[in-house]
Amino acid sequence: RVVGANPTSPNEEAMERALRPKRLDDYVGQVKAREQLDIFIGAARKRAESLDHVLLFGPPGLGKTTLSHIIAAELGVNLRQTSGPVLEKPKDLAAILTGLERNDVLFIDEIHRLSPVVEEILYPALEDFQIDIMIGDGPAARSIKLDLQPFTLVGATTRAGMLTNPLRDRFGIVARLEFYTADELAAIVTRSAGLLGVPIDPDGAFELARRSRGTPRIANRLLRRVRDYADVKAQGRITVPVANLALAMLDVDPQGFDVMDRKLLEAIVHRFDGGPVGLDNVAAAIGEESGTIEDVIEPYLIQQGYLQRTPRGRIATVAAYRHLGLAPPARNGS
Ligand code: ADP
Repeated sequence: RVVGANPTSPNEEAMERALRPKRLDDYVGQVKAREQLDIFIGAARKRAESLDHVLLFGPPGLGKTTLSHIIAAELGVNLRQTSGPVLEKPKDLAAILTGLERNDVLFIDEIHRLSPVVEEILYPALEDFQIDIMIGDGPAARSIKLDLQPFTLVGATTRAGMLTNPLRDRFGIVARLEFYTADELAAIVTRSAGLLGVPIDPDGAFELARRSRGTPRIANRLLRRVRDYADVKAQGRITVPVANLALAMLDVDPQGFDVMDRKLLEAIVHRFDGGPVGLDNVAAAIGEESGTIEDVIEPYLIQQGYLQRTPRGRIATVAAYRHLGLAPPARNGS
């Protein structure tokens, strides 16, 4: 998948690191989250205390990892980065926690995938900056309490609904990241093009931005691909016509939907009469994992009004029919 929302190669990860804004002022959009964090970070700094734990949620590629790095930078502390699935055993987390320095930031990506035993030792760590660890084996085993330095957990998840209640309750700051507007993404594309030394027209930048599914990661990825195209086919400069040709080659349609978006809409329309259809049934029909549909594909289609999520299942809207060049059925109430 050319334009999926997760990083796919070491090259791309290197590019992402290079393009990441380092300070809050350079972080485009997400005004609400930024304003909140600006105040809370300022207050924590002033009191020389650790910042409250922060939960960031939203679809992949919207800037959760970036923001966690910025939080650490603004606090002037170290960042330790890990992820839910990587922390297999309590001792994996204990090793990280005991290594933290005063007021450091611990970033746990995909925090909804923490195993229950690991999550268990996180609670007292978050609440009292203490952990209970087991010493010895068998009948001689005993648990001892260990004091930790105060720290800030920044947890990221694509689905806040997947967190257990006790975990969610321990975050003092909860920020939901939203899809970016075309103007915000155009600012990101322009900045990235500047850093990469790619000549781009303002209209060309806007065209890329408009077709990036509201997602900075996709905008940067398209920029890189379109640059390749411009280098080979058009003297290197990204103009609107060059962007249009390159995006057509990449199977990104005029709305910015990619192959998987269209596959999903087509399946619902053609195979399930426009829905309502259950997630697992659509997943089987298009050969994609239901989690990927729910976290990566659907949110943008829903936000854009092409798909509805109802208690009885997914429904393709009138806009979806029109997008596929079809007349919407009369009975479809959407
Ligand atoms: P997530 O952790 O939510 O999947 P990332 O933080 O890895 O997303 O962001 C993906 C890429 O998008 C980053 O490399 C960064 O260059 C870019 N990006 C994300 N958010 C912003 C933003 N607000 N301003 C500028 N660039 C951004």
